[in-house]
Amino acid sequence: MAAHVPTMLAMIIVSSLMMAASMAVVGWGRRRDGLGRWSAALLINAIGHLLIMLRGLVPDVLSIVVGNMLLSCVFAGMIAAIYQFQGRPVRWWMLLAPAGLTTIFVIVFIDHFPARVSFVGLVIGLQSIWALWAALQRRHATVGRGQWLLVGGLMLEALVLGARALVALTMGGASTDILQGSGLQTLTFMSTFSVVLVSSMGFVFMSRDRADESNRVMAALDALTGVANRRSLIAALDRDVARAVRMHESIALMMVDIDHFKNVNDQYGHPVGDQVLCSVVNVLRQRVRAQDLVGRYGGEEFMVLLPDTSLMGAEQLARELCKAVEESRCPADGVPGPGIAVTVSIGVFGGRLESGDSWDMLIAAADRALYQAKNNGRNRVEVATGLRRPSAQLAAQAHPETLPESLY
Ligand code: GH3
Ligand code: MG
Ligand code: MG
Repeated sequence: MAAHVPTMLAMIIVSSLMMAASMAVVGWGRRRDGLGRWSAALLINAIGHLLIMLRGLVPDVLSIVVGNMLLSCVFAGMIAAIYQFQGRPVRWWMLLAPAGLTTIFVIVFIDHFPARVSFVGLVIGLQSIWALWAALQRRHATVGRGQWLLVGGLMLEALVLGARALVALTMGGASTDILQGSGLQTLTFMSTFSVVLVSSMGFVFMSRDRADESNRVMAALDALTGVANRRSLIAALDRDVARAVRMHESIALMMVDIDHFKNVNDQYGHPVGDQVLCSVVNVLRQRVRAQDLVGRYGGEEFMVLLPDTSLMGAEQLARELCKAVEESRCPADGVPGPGIAVTVSIGVFGGRLESGDSWDMLIAAADRALYQAKNNGRNRVEVATGLRRPSAQLAAQAHPETLPESLY
């Protein structure tokens, strides 16, 4: 099937221009996403194909030499855009070397259509493999499915250009005019058209996916200390409580509150107080296991979530944390000496759960123990003796004197 070549070229030109303009608008002011470079590559693609379309109407040196050189520059621009997205430096001379080679070859073989077509197809095919390879690098840092559109588009381009180079080489001078329709030309231009659309969309989605991911991470973290915020703590606790009930596993939870923190703010000021909060968080984080979660529950109160942990284990860890904070010093700007000394009080809940137990019951239990620790003199650990289950609470309201001791 041979389609009308000028029509296909016009489609490529228009789609490249539209896509270039859209990406320039979307990427404005977002340099690190590489959208500006990709947009420039698409603009070059439009000019290159325009020059090819004008074959016979403009001098051959423009249409053939400059046109092919620009097509090779398109891929240099796309690779540069991928590198920028990944935060990698670009060595322009390396990226532009294939375009230089193409120019020289096309000048030398200007009258030899099959040699020209196969060489240009080979160079651009290799460039699209280079772009593909670049896109597959640092994949772990690229979230979302946008990258697969980019990779798919580049794969298609590499395959079609490779096939075109091969056919041009083996069939010799079957065709001598680029504007003359043939099945192969149709396939080449169709694939270029698709690559422009699919890869460009993939590239835009990649930056959107990355922005989504960073928003998601930011929404889950406390802005000051960088640990989980209250919302993600509760989500994690809810999930772990459900799992502990299902698996009949023990679970533990600590509420950690800095003692007399108001005095730190009053004495040194709020910014120093902020630094102290970060130091305390670091002490906690350094001493918990990888599966434990430290988060900021609010103000100067932190929560440590310990899945699959017995009360005994949690109590021992709490004592270690209490001692570690007491022994550490929080370095702070403008405070001479080793830093500020603070202590923490910790309330611990730990044990097996029953079906129907929920995350808020665990927090309430650990909070009660924390309250005890504050009442008993601070800088200490107290353990919650049990959960207050709704049925027990109802019973307590009905017969307060019969409430078993173990529920407190
Ligand atoms: P206690 O031993 O009973 O816990 O006494 P406390 O002074 O630590 O507790 P209180 O609840 O009276 O005061 C907590 C203080 O924590 C008051 C508040 O200004 C301060 N605070 C809360 N959030 C922040 C914060 O993000 N930065 C700073 N610097 N201070 C904070
Ligand atoms: Mg406090
Ligand atoms: Mg507090």
